[in-house]
Amino acid sequence: MEKEVIDYCANEYCGKEIHFGQPVFRIGHELVCNGQCLVEKLGAKATIAGRDKDET
Ligand SMILES: [Zn+2]
Repeated sequence: MEKEVIDYCANEYCGKEIHFGQPVFRIGHELVCNGQCLVEKLGAKATIAGRDKDET
């Protein structure tokens, strides 16, 4: 069953459809589809504490 598309993920690298009733994150008036998109949208990056230098 197709749910109504109410918005699109605010992470421009994702841009997935966001459907009515879907759990999302809100940043101001923008919505992102999951936690990964949230950190990317905020310019943050998941890493391991103390191992940042291993990242390229
Ligand atoms: Zn997304």
